[in-house]
Amino acid sequence: MLKVIVDFDGTLTAEETQVGELAAMSLTTLATEIIDAPRKQLASEYEATRARLMARPQRYCWVVNGLVASYCDEGAFILNTTTLQVMLRDNPYYLRRVSERFPVAEYDPVVDCTNYLFHRHTADLGIAFRPCAREVLVSLIERPDVHPVILTNSLGDKVRRHIDALGLPGDVAILGDTRQYEMAPEWTRHFDVPGVGEAQIWPISDVRTIDLRRPAYYRALVDARSDGASLAVVADTFSLPGALPLMMGIPFYLCRTPYTPDWCVEVVGDHPCGVVLNDLAELLGVLSLC
Ligand SMILES: [Mg+2]
Repeated sequence: MLKVIVDFDGTLTAEETQVGELAAMSLTTLATEIIDAPRKQLASEYEATRARLMARPQRYCWVVNGLVASYCDEGAFILNTTTLQVMLRDNPYYLRRVSERFPVAEYDPVVDCTNYLFHRHTADLGIAFRPCAREVLVSLIERPDVHPVILTNSLGDKVRRHIDALGLPGDVAILGDTRQYEMAPEWTRHFDVPGVGEAQIWPISDVRTIDLRRPAYYRALVDARSDGASLAVVADTFSLPGALPLMMGIPFYLCRTPYTPDWCVEVVGDHPCGVVLNDLAELLGVLSLC
């Protein structure tokens, strides 16, 4: 049996059409409930910060527990999250207000704040499936040897509601709140990294390395194949959902989107277990090779 683990945001959905609304809602919440600053000021700082990130994307990252979870330019929602994080960390007043609002942090106050904004406001977003999303899921469900599983950092109930709205002819499991961003410096597992050997850091170019210390996501993948199933992972971004599967010998299919940077396409395309899809619909053709 093959479990095809399909990422939700950005893979099944067109997150590039939703990120503006997500950012707008997040800025309103920051202005009125968390920071107590004029929304207009926050909005212009957000725009300036995002431009600064995209001018040098290799320099700006989503950092969790001191480790890089993702580069800022990998996805539309990731860029929004990283922009908010940099904006909140760089201003001492904002940082103090966020620390007061999230005093008992699970990660650190800024990461907790952006997780809160993400979970709260992605729940309010409308449904924006990519045109082929339903057809792809139906085809996977109808193949007797294949089980589709939805993977998401969002909370499972939002995703369940949206998947139910598709009226699919069978069941789809949902791996919600999978926390591919949960980085753990103390985790000791090493991987056979190309060109390096046993390591926890995958150097992919002169300016970027991928940190593999993601025990929560690792456990989710190990659990998923504990019944003897083979796995494949399909997603629109690389560091969060894709790097660990490749290091575990699990095929990873990167769906190219309007925001996918070339460096992600290159690193996935160069890996023997990596495949780049120019459209999610191409998945059905290439999966038959498994
Ligand atoms: Mg995604």
